Amino acid sequence: MKLYYDLHTHTVWSDGELEPGSLVASAAAAGVRVLALTDHDTMAGVDEAACAARHCGIQLIPGVELSVAWQGLTVHVVGLGLDAGNARLRQALAAVRETRIERGRAMAAALAAAGLLGAQSVLERPGIVSRVHVADWLVAHGHAPDRARAFKRFLTRGMPAYVVAQWPDLTAGVDSIRGAGGCAVLAHPIRYRLSGGRLEQLVRAFTEAGGVALEVVTAGLDAGEIGRLARLARRYALHASVGSDFHKALPWRLRPGGLPELPGDCRPVWDGWPGIVSREIA
Ligand code: AMP
Ligand code: MN
Ligand code: MN
Ligand code: MN
Repeated sequence: MKLYYDLHTHTVWSDGELEPGSLVASAAAAGVRVLALTDHDTMAGVDEAACAARHCGIQLIPGVELSVAWQGLTVHVVGLGLDAGNARLRQALAAVRETRIERGRAMAAALAAAGLLGAQSVLERPGIVSRVHVADWLVAHGHAPDRARAFKRFLTRGMPAYVVAQWPDLTAGVDSIRGAGGCAVLAHPIRYRLSGGRLEQLVRAFTEAGGVALEVVTAGLDAGEIGRLARLARRYALHASVGSDFHKALPWRLRPGGLPELPGDCRPVWDGWPGIVSREIA
């Protein structure tokens, strides 16, 4: 079964492996007809992606995945249909870029204090600086066997190079998305590992901030989890989104768009968007 919407993907401008043009081409080849590029905290890849999408005959939704803080946790909010030229959004993204550079510097300093010198080279990349790039540096220099273990040994809470980042808070993040004409979607709600009650608190705060959708279908969820998210979306009168969170081809995320369909009783986030190819026609 083909999926026509994939509204959560990454490129080299954040922590993905593909250039925007290659992402769009592989999404189109996988049957995606409406693709959102949602790099972490940057829209630098959107122009190239839009150009490639015109070439492939698919629709590109300009997006971003914002890192925000909620009650001491890092939460991800996907913004869809954004005006990349919006001044307030640009300012917000520039501020997060600085936050990421400062955190990168602090992670490199922490590693140097532990005797692992040279990680500040990751600050020179053109895209945003992520823990993923520090993890890859650790692997490339023989300090960890693979990315997962680099995270586990150095880069997660309680480990030597874990540095808390001061993300904008949830309300500010949703505001910058709304101010730029976009829809705010709470990304991968299951991945925060919250209890049922805490997840509801988060969803309530997100709704009150002006969020409009939950990411109900994303990679790695089983049918039970998808059903639970669909019910949660209904309870809070939220729409539902679909996104692979594609970073690179892995066995369980083979390609952008390789996902189950939204349950029939969900209201898709793209309902009412202008110019959207309908599932029947596509
Ligand atoms: P950052 O936003 O810089 O804190 O980096 C978070 C990113 O790292 C996420 O978007 C994931 O793509 C990736 N990530 C998080 N945890 C892990 C992990 N344990 N192993 C591999 N990648 C991870
Ligand atoms: Mn990522
Ligand atoms: Mn995320
Ligand atoms: Mn993502």
